[in-house]
Amino acid sequence: MDMFIDGGWVAAQSGQGMPVTDPTTGAVIDTVPLGEAADAERAIASAARAFETWKRVPMAERVRLVKACAQAMRDQAPRIGAALNRELGRPLHGCIAEIASSANLLDIYAEEGLRLYATQALGSAPGERIVVTRDPVGVVVAITPFNYPITLLMFKLGAALIAGCPVVTKPSEDTPLSTLLLAELFHATGLPAGLFNVVTGARALGEALVAHPVPRKIAFTGSVPAGKAIAAAAAGTMKRVTLELGGHSAAIVCADADLDKAAEAITRHGFANSGQFCYRVNRLYVERPVYEALLERLATRARKLTLAPAGGEGDLGPLVNARIFANSEQQIADARAKGARILAGGDRATGAGYDGGCYMPPTLIADATPEMLIMREETFGPVIGIAPVDSPAEGLRLANDSRFGLAGFVFTRDLALGMALCEGFEAGSVWLNDIQRASHHVPFGGMKESGLGREKGRYGVESYLEYKTMYLSWEPPL
Ligand code: NAD
Repeated sequence: MDMFIDGGWVAAQSGQGMPVTDPTTGAVIDTVPLGEAADAERAIASAARAFETWKRVPMAERVRLVKACAQAMRDQAPRIGAALNRELGRPLHGCIAEIASSANLLDIYAEEGLRLYATQALGSAPGERIVVTRDPVGVVVAITPFNYPITLLMFKLGAALIAGCPVVTKPSEDTPLSTLLLAELFHATGLPAGLFNVVTGARALGEALVAHPVPRKIAFTGSVPAGKAIAAAAAGTMKRVTLELGGHSAAIVCADADLDKAAEAITRHGFANSGQFCYRVNRLYVERPVYEALLERLATRARKLTLAPAGGEGDLGPLVNARIFANSEQQIADARAKGARILAGGDRATGAGYDGGCYMPPTLIADATPEMLIMREETFGPVIGIAPVDSPAEGLRLANDSRFGLAGFVFTRDLALGMALCEGFEAGSVWLNDIQRASHHVPFGGMKESGLGREKGRYGVESYLEYKTMYLSWEPPL
């Protein structure tokens, strides 16, 4: 496939391409352009032209178009989900679900658009008014990772379009195809040319987009090192940034918790998308009286999860590439060497259907200690570290002893204790007694090195608007 710029398919100006592979087999399934600075320039110029018109389009019309795109996504979820399945390796039903659920976020942003207001200070002198209005920030660059490429793009694109901003997006090198198909679909649905441009390439293309003087905002989801590099580069032209970065989220399981419910929620959430999930449960702190009982429940559930071989069905697909897989292997080896107990998984799956991909079964590491990598660094794979603690307070101290602050999870039947732990967590989102997917209506983002700013709901749209204060004076005629 080519890039999608200004409403049409475009090759890289250099003529170079890069392969897209199927993670279940390692086979090349397509080639996309290896874009460079000249391609970034072309896409940004298209977006800048589109901005001049789009910022004047009445909100009702923006809403109509964004809702039409949401419906087109739902209608085409099987087709775009199939492309995502091929490039990401996640089982098909989960890929189709991602497309359909992301469409809901577009609808929510559209409705937030209808409820945006500006203000006017009361009590001005006759012939004077102070009016505070809100303008779209301008051209937006959206840079996305591989793990939920469509959801994480919709966090940005839906809010930007409603606010009046065009977008140039650079999807991950691993998963560009679903984003390209979506751009074509939205254009065919009526979204004017230049509002949703997709350029494909590697880090150098991302750097060219961030350094370009025209865009006024960078919306990024990805790793902490890339986020820091982007923040530093964006400072050169004082662009706004929204950064959704890595996580290393902890769960605290208290002695009075419903252990079956806790084990169910932790297993479901910790191994979703093969652990390639920013706010997944990565580490557990469990009160000693229930430590072994919880381990047994977790192990039973983890061992029931199946790996989906190439061309087959199952719960977990392979990890997307060898670089991401290496984190899991390294953390498991480190924990083994330091004396941890491997309760489930722990070894790469091999044999027919698995040899072509990087498959790791759901892995539980018990008796983990604070110096082990699993308890300190993001895994981004299906591995959970577990440690006993003497009290909920010790669990909270260890949970917060981290440079990350994306999410936290608490399990206790004591509501007062649960509230105290939730309030004490240094994290952008906290769950008590169950773990549902993050809602589209409320802010999502991280504290500390997990990021800057919030996406989704009203907060998401507002981050694409600039305040402007107008001081108006005239001679009162009466
Ligand atoms: P990554 O940081 O390697 O790449 C993400 C994107 O950034 C890619 O498109 C890449 O080409 C681009 N990029 C990398 N360096 C860049 C630079 N200096 N300038 C401009 N662009 C650059 O991340 P990944 O491996 O694709 O995804 C995994 C990471 O994403 C994990 O750390 C995970 O926690 C994080 N993530 C965070 C959230 C969240 O909402 N907080 C959600 C999903 C994933």
